[in-house]
Amino acid sequence: MKILLVFAALGAAAGAEQLFVDFWRDPTSPGHPADLRVPFPSLQTVKIFLESHSISYSVMIEDLQELLDEEKKNMTKSRRIERSTSTFDFASYHTIEEIYDWMDTLVEDHPSLVSKIQIGQSYENRSLYVLKFSTGGSNRPAIWLDTGIHSREWITQATGVWTANKIVEEYGQDPSVTAILDSMDIFFEIITNPDGFVFTHNSNRLWRKTRSINAGSPCIGVDPNRNWDAGFGGSGSSSDPCSETYRGPYAHSESEVKAIVDFIRGHGNVKSVISIHSYSQMLLFPYGYKRVPANELAKKAVSDLAAMYGTKYTYGSIVDTIYLADGTTIDWAYDNGVKYSFTFELRDTGRYGFLLPSTQIIPTATETWPALLDIMVHVLEHPY
Ligand SMILES: [Zn+2]
Repeated sequence: MKILLVFAALGAAAGAEQLFVDFWRDPTSPGHPADLRVPFPSLQTVKIFLESHSISYSVMIEDLQELLDEEKKNMTKSRRIERSTSTFDFASYHTIEEIYDWMDTLVEDHPSLVSKIQIGQSYENRSLYVLKFSTGGSNRPAIWLDTGIHSREWITQATGVWTANKIVEEYGQDPSVTAILDSMDIFFEIITNPDGFVFTHNSNRLWRKTRSINAGSPCIGVDPNRNWDAGFGGSGSSSDPCSETYRGPYAHSESEVKAIVDFIRGHGNVKSVISIHSYSQMLLFPYGYKRVPANELAKKAVSDLAAMYGTKYTYGSIVDTIYLADGTTIDWAYDNGVKYSFTFELRDTGRYGFLLPSTQIIPTATETWPALLDIMVHVLEHPY
């Protein structure tokens, strides 16, 4: 009976926890498929439920453990190569220590272009680092980029590392990058949820939320992409601390979110916020954006992205394209005067989901680059 109620709308995430079902792709919008990870002990119950309700389904990943083992093996292999060659392997997933070390090297090698700033501390007291790409000036118009606010979306931090490196490589080479950095600054937070990221490496590869303790609940963490003060507390998030989309006790309760809020407000001249997630292959913008030419820009960006390897993206406002979500980064940015705010959902569409093989890191980053550049160039040319 409980199960029936739970799945009545195939969307009650609160009930999903009773079966330990983990929604990889939210089921809240009708007509769109939901992706869920079903632990073995719940498998029969879930199958019976789906069949008895004539809900069709297919198996995306037969054995998740196989993918997890493969991922671990590749990381170990890459670490061996890196140790013998002392070069960073962009085609591999990395730990927080490796990424932070790489960031320091990037700054050391390009001191006149890149610096590292700390915008705050995580719940578990890790430093929140942001790379600043700047050729000078004071308080220039700026573009904010973040990856990894959902810690299990490993392709995003990996794409972040590749992209930060690309920005440095292309300055002085690519006329667009050069023009952007000659009059604007880029701020890039690669590991936006460090506590969660460490947890995905050490304990649970599929951890999404922050790691803050919730008073009165055994469940840990807040969804940092439901914690922003933009429609906070609506039906596109959960009030249950055990939910993967738990919004937190109040807006900006998470220090990882608050640090960005304070930074962007304090800066006062941020023109664009691009927040990078996975997966689904989508480029999204806030609802209110219909009034500005975000649609045209998104269309161009996904078409330039597809031109690289044929990867198809859908695009549109969040509400029209995927589902109701409140308290999100880009809605907050938009409400706070950031004209161009976008969310990417990188590869894939569910074949591997969050466990995208490392062989796809460079292709993913490479195809995303022209789309990012389209947005940045547009911001440069139309700052107001
Ligand atoms: Zn995400």
